[in-house]
Amino acid sequence: MKITSVDVFALKPRYVPQAMRGVVCRINTDCGIYGYGEAALSYGKGSMAGFHMIKELAPLIIGQDPMRNEFLWERMFKDTFWGVSGGAVFYSAMSAIDIALMDIKGKALNVPCYQLLGGKQRDKMRAYASQLQLDWPDDDACGFRMQVTPEDYARVSLKAVSEGYTAIKIDFLCINPDTGTVRPQSETLGIMDKRQLDYAVARVKATREAVGPNIDIIVENHSNTDAISGTQFGRAIQEYGIYYYEEPTYPLNPMTTKNLARKVNIPIANGERIYTRWLYLPFLIDDSIQVIQPEIANCGGITECKKICDLAHIFDASVQIHICGSPISLAAALHVEAAIPNFLIHEHHVINKMNFIRELGKYDIYPENGYFTVPERPGIGQELSDYALQTSYCETVK
Ligand code: MG
Repeated sequence: MKITSVDVFALKPRYVPQAMRGVVCRINTDCGIYGYGEAALSYGKGSMAGFHMIKELAPLIIGQDPMRNEFLWERMFKDTFWGVSGGAVFYSAMSAIDIALMDIKGKALNVPCYQLLGGKQRDKMRAYASQLQLDWPDDDACGFRMQVTPEDYARVSLKAVSEGYTAIKIDFLCINPDTGTVRPQSETLGIMDKRQLDYAVARVKATREAVGPNIDIIVENHSNTDAISGTQFGRAIQEYGIYYYEEPTYPLNPMTTKNLARKVNIPIANGERIYTRWLYLPFLIDDSIQVIQPEIANCGGITECKKICDLAHIFDASVQIHICGSPISLAAALHVEAAIPNFLIHEHHVINKMNFIRELGKYDIYPENGYFTVPERPGIGQELSDYALQTSYCETVK
């Protein structure tokens, strides 16, 4: 089997919140088998850079045997000069290609991808409702209403819990209470003023009181706090029994993360902006993070994500794969989650709840009562829908 071409798609959902513009690739072969992968850049600036990065890497794999996916991974990593130092754009493109190669391999061997990773450790994956500060609307809505008051947080949390979720995640700081819009990072760095600290704590308190003692609450800071404000806020909310505390400081500095972890009595999660085993290792050696969050579509793909998870297992760190993209990366993540021993919980982002994103996938992969099951179809078990193919911008490298 030989790779003949690579199609790159810039997805165009009918509703586009912020920069939510996914980039997907399809690797085609001379025997008719094709595989899909995704570059996880849709939620920040740079998605079209990922689009073009896939085009730049495509000549390295065209004409090659797709079954040699680890050989091709090493080639992209080592024979490209910039591959070893990577960054989000480079590693997103590598990840898209790796996921697509694993999809091809699963299809060629007629097995779901989790079988290529050692088989199932579990049949069901517990999921949490993610990013409730943006809203948790009905599935067919085409818009979000930012949550502002403590009462808003109580109400939106109860809505998610009523749908069967036993865990929720919220960024309690990012919506400015005065404007009701996402605040600039500069407002939450350094020493936080008492008014905004108290208001964010009131949101946490209202959420805990609404959902009761048996729901896990994950607190997400998106690295909008630093070692000082992240420590202040963490210490102020630890009495509410927080499940874990995500990106409370700059995401690529193990030292500040470790210092904060020693001062705040909540397990620390980090990793959606950490790439490959090489960059994860310092965080694991010094125990600065207890929950790793590799983004399946920018940490190096399925094969690298599995290796990062295995590395974390040595250090007793558990895994919540970061997911915020199209149905392609959602499916890819489920295969790794099914196969690793240290899986903790699955992120069900509000984006992946919405029909305007779900309709981009050929299959509707959706949790039942707060739990996902892994697709049993060969490969990753997902591909772009006819609607997505018809509405996307596409370029092909041959
Ligand atoms: Mg996050």
